Amino acid sequence: MTKRTPLPRRLQRILQAIADRHIGAVEQAFLDSLDAAVGRVDTQRLLSALRSGDLTEAVEAIGVTNIETEMRRRVFAALHAASTEAARASAQGTGIGVDLRFDLVNREAVRWAKRRGAMLVREVTHSARNNIRGLVANGLRGVFTVRETAVAIRPLLQAAAKRTLGLTQKQYQWVENYRTELSGQMRATERVRAGEDITEVARELHKRPETVRKWIRQRLTPELVERRVEQYAARKLRERALTISRTETMDAQSAGQRIMWRAAESQGLMTFDIGVKQYYDTPAGRLIGPTAHPKCRCTEVVRRVGRFFRRFWVIAQDERTCKICRQIPKMNPLGVGLPDERMEAREQRLAA
Ligand SMILES: [Zn+2]
Repeated sequence: MTKRTPLPRRLQRILQAIADRHIGAVEQAFLDSLDAAVGRVDTQRLLSALRSGDLTEAVEAIGVTNIETEMRRRVFAALHAASTEAARASAQGTGIGVDLRFDLVNREAVRWAKRRGAMLVREVTHSARNNIRGLVANGLRGVFTVRETAVAIRPLLQAAAKRTLGLTQKQYQWVENYRTELSGQMRATERVRAGEDITEVARELHKRPETVRKWIRQRLTPELVERRVEQYAARKLRERALTISRTETMDAQSAGQRIMWRAAESQGLMTFDIGVKQYYDTPAGRLIGPTAHPKCRCTEVVRRVGRFFRRFWVIAQDERTCKICRQIPKMNPLGVGLPDERMEAREQRLAA
């Protein structure tokens, strides 16, 4: 039994490496889509939408549809590339690569990448629409208290549009909380500067005077607050881009393989053992395959067992955090999916 583990592990490493090679492209596709969309933001219109608190106008001005269009085109190409490369590697790894008709695989991979890309677009535009609500609610607070003309605050409006379009709702909230925090510190500083007693100000804010003194040393100005908020938002944006690209490339890799298996099955090159359940049952009773959660590094591979092919879930060796993935080695100490001793014995008899 233990002799069987090296092959899935090797194929797993190859497939993970393929996913990793495409991370940069997917990440870049997301960020480029964002830049292109933000480049077309109608700042004049956005400013007046924010001044009047008009949600519909703000959605129009920021142009959620722009990111939709950009992402569809760019992300689709990146996902397609990753899935077809994985399909080829998997076909080679299982020894059916030479006979497989890759035009069939490719046609399916195109279809999959479009579907998957559309799902991702929906996810991004959903959070974007909700964030715009937050942006309108905050209206002319923070960035917009800088009393200048629309031309002068154009970069600020674009930065606001960028985080609105690019961040998850939770991240967007964190950014707003950070701004509130910094603004509070700035106001406390101003009060002390204006002659109020530092101990009094501190007590009122439930802080220690040393804390307020630390705030004062930062010399916060509205511009500095904005710059810090932007840096924080940029960091969150990079985090999201990385989460998206890691998850999507692993998914593309799994999808490419499944497409290959189906194509091979339809050409009579692979026969799957339907007597064996091909996925793990989670405690909740749901049937799942990797990826099981954002940034999941698990892979699925097939191996020939006797006359049949069988799917195996190969858990990522660095998987520590996921409740689902973590328990797979416990269900099966080999960390592979569902080998059934009796089934195996039957197959050996059949093969003999
Ligand atoms: Zn996993």
